[in-house]
Amino acid sequence: MDAAVDASTSQFELNEDQRAIQEMAEAFAADRVAPNALDWDRNKHFPADVIRETGPLGLGGIYISDDVGGSALGRLDAVLIFEALSRADPAFSSFISIHNMVASMIDRFGSNEQRQRFLPKLTSMEWLASYCLTEPGSGSDAAALKTRAVKGGDYVLNGVKQFISGAGDSDIYIVMARTGTDGPKGISTFVVPKDAPGLSFGANEHKMGWHMQSTRQVIFEDCKVPAQNLLSAEGAGFGIAMAGLDGGRLNIAACSLGGAQSALDKALAYTAERKAFGSKINQFQALQFKLADMETELQAARIFLYAAASKLDRNAPDASKWSAMAKRFVTDIGFNVANDALQLHGGYGYLHDYGIEKLVRDLRVHQILEGTNEIMRVIIARALIGR
Ligand SMILES: Cc1cc2nc3c(=O)[nH]c(=O)nc-3n(C[C@H](O)[C@H](O)[C@H](O)COP(=O)(O)OP(=O)(O)OC[C@H]3O[C@@H](n4cnc5c(N)ncnc54)[C@H](O)[C@@H]3O)c2cc1C
Repeated sequence: MDAAVDASTSQFELNEDQRAIQEMAEAFAADRVAPNALDWDRNKHFPADVIRETGPLGLGGIYISDDVGGSALGRLDAVLIFEALSRADPAFSSFISIHNMVASMIDRFGSNEQRQRFLPKLTSMEWLASYCLTEPGSGSDAAALKTRAVKGGDYVLNGVKQFISGAGDSDIYIVMARTGTDGPKGISTFVVPKDAPGLSFGANEHKMGWHMQSTRQVIFEDCKVPAQNLLSAEGAGFGIAMAGLDGGRLNIAACSLGGAQSALDKALAYTAERKAFGSKINQFQALQFKLADMETELQAARIFLYAAASKLDRNAPDASKWSAMAKRFVTDIGFNVANDALQLHGGYGYLHDYGIEKLVRDLRVHQILEGTNEIMRVIIARALIGR
């Protein structure tokens, strides 16, 4: 049985619906994503058309309410989808994850009028969405952000957001900006459309991986945002931003899991073919042990991630700690497995056409974004120590 599907433990036996969701995502990924992933990476091409094809499949609003076109699925369902998409391309899957994170923030914290105004177009993927928290001077210490929103009739935003995935390509930007005093309580969240006057974008960053999606600054210069685009209330923004990230962290972990599974599958196939010293290289016990460790660690990561997603589905009181633990654990293992797979390919692993070095580059950033893995340890330690 396929290793990714063989995730049934007594606790996590997937039900019929979950298997159907997983198979649907796998089929789409194999048909529309996998054959193109290396080209998109090489050409730094953002495949908006293929991303939009996921809307009719229900992937634009995976855990969004059905009254606005969402699929109303759970977090474990979402993890299965992102894992399946990532086996074809972790960068593609990650963009869908960010889009879903933004949609869920509007679904959870928006007024009914806002939900009706934004979500049908987001769940259908007619509009794509980006998440704007990080600034040039504040990443991990997100509550130190300086972008300011001042209320006249409308709000007027000034400031710069850094490293924004999909910037320039997305239609909707969810932006955390300061409306009050320093610190987390002075932050509010706004929904900013791409055509807002005073909004512009920086150059596409030259980066190590995730080449199929742009990473740019988002720049606000006296940018006018209608007052009815404030989500929830002034001062609620930091909580909204962090609530989005709990699920986002599970999704990004799932993207690592799927990418690493693909790397392991490639390593198994390659070591069964490649010969050295008169035998297939998978006959060397050192390499067999490496493959055994990769499989063991990946399965442990999978079970841990599914457990964390189930916690969030149940609104368990320790769900945030588990999301942080899963993000740290699965993205570290995912990167290590992909890197080991590259080593097992020898020099060929370093060549673009084999698809392994792309996985290593793509998975590396998962240890940095949605909260670095050091910040995950800060969250876990705080939960343990009780502050
Ligand atoms: C490709 C890419 C895409 C991204 N997409 C987005 C996006 O769409 N939206 C968005 O808002 N952001 C995005 N980010 C930003 C990302 O979330 C930040 O880079 C990340 O949160 C880290 O912030 P920083 O880069 O400012 O590093 P810093 O916060 O400056 O951290 C530097 C180092 O110090 C460590 N550190 C900091 N504080 C502590 C502490 N208290 N204890 C221990 N170690 C600590 C960090 O772990 C890190 O190793 C993206 C980043 C990249 C690279």
